Amino acid sequence: MRDKFFKNKEVNKIALIAPSATLIEIKNYQVTYKKQVKTPTEITGSVKCVNPNCITNHENIISEFTVIKNPDGEIKLQCHYCEKMTGKKNMEFI
Ligand SMILES: [Zn+2]
Repeated sequence: MRDKFFKNKEVNKIALIAPSATLIEIKNYQVTYKKQVKTPTEITGSVKCVNPNCITNHENIISEFTVIKNPDGEIKLQCHYCEKMTGKKNMEFI
């Protein structure tokens, strides 16, 4: 059940901010667990849509994004509702 140590939502956030990060669990000064984060293909409910007119910012709707990874490794999120791209710079976690 080691995967529970890092909650999925947290891991997804880390994967978006630092796609090549490795999560390390340390106990008694020893590394007990290592996990390479994987960039998710979809993000639900963790990020705010960049578009101020987006329905997810006005109504009680959970945001949904498709994760788009550029060849240079840059990550963008495309909103399912308004199709606007939220870039890393504008990413606001909720
Ligand atoms: Zn949107």
